[in-house]
Amino acid sequence: MHQVIIMEQTKRYELPKLAYGYKDLAPFLSEEQLTVHHTKHHAAYVNAANAILDRMARARAENADIDAKGTLKDLSFQIGGHYLHSVYWETLCPAGKGGEPQGKLKVELEKEFGSIERFKREFSAAAGSAEGSGWAVLVYCMALKKPIIMQVEKHNVNVIPGFRVLMSLDVWEHAYYIDYKNLRPKYIEAFWNQVDWAEVGKKLDAMLR
Ligand code: MN
Repeated sequence: MHQVIIMEQTKRYELPKLAYGYKDLAPFLSEEQLTVHHTKHHAAYVNAANAILDRMARARAENADIDAKGTLKDLSFQIGGHYLHSVYWETLCPAGKGGEPQGKLKVELEKEFGSIERFKREFSAAAGSAEGSGWAVLVYCMALKKPIIMQVEKHNVNVIPGFRVLMSLDVWEHAYYIDYKNLRPKYIEAFWNQVDWAEVGKKLDAMLR
């Protein structure tokens, strides 16, 4: 006898609140660009991930089959979108408030890349050369004890996220088209003035504690 009666997830993904106002990243991102991206695009991934989990819970309650391949591919896409966007908002801050890399973050970046400038150049190249929709992310690998730049296609569909993402840059067109049209390189260049290095460093410190 199948006893599971949960028809809806009790804990749900939620759209995170931003640590700044919708006008506070201008002119890097206009109020319109940031609002649409956060409240429409990111919210859609949150809602879709919850809907898939609800659907799976219902199927279990009814002891019905789940289309494993399609459902799990979609779930990975939606959860990946939610996670990467959450890190993206935390990566950003109002211009002039982000400081410079400090402490362990500075040490690790300089040790691996030779200089902060070299790191920025490689990260920008990863963001600029992502084909179609994707991301540039900085992760920290605990096995090798070093930072690695990765390029994510779409939202890293069906890849197990084995590394904590320290910072992310969204290069889907929806992230910049209102303000930059097709000019992704201009958006990437402007990004460096908005990075909250203290927040990025905090994520690394939490891993190395
Ligand atoms: Mn996005």
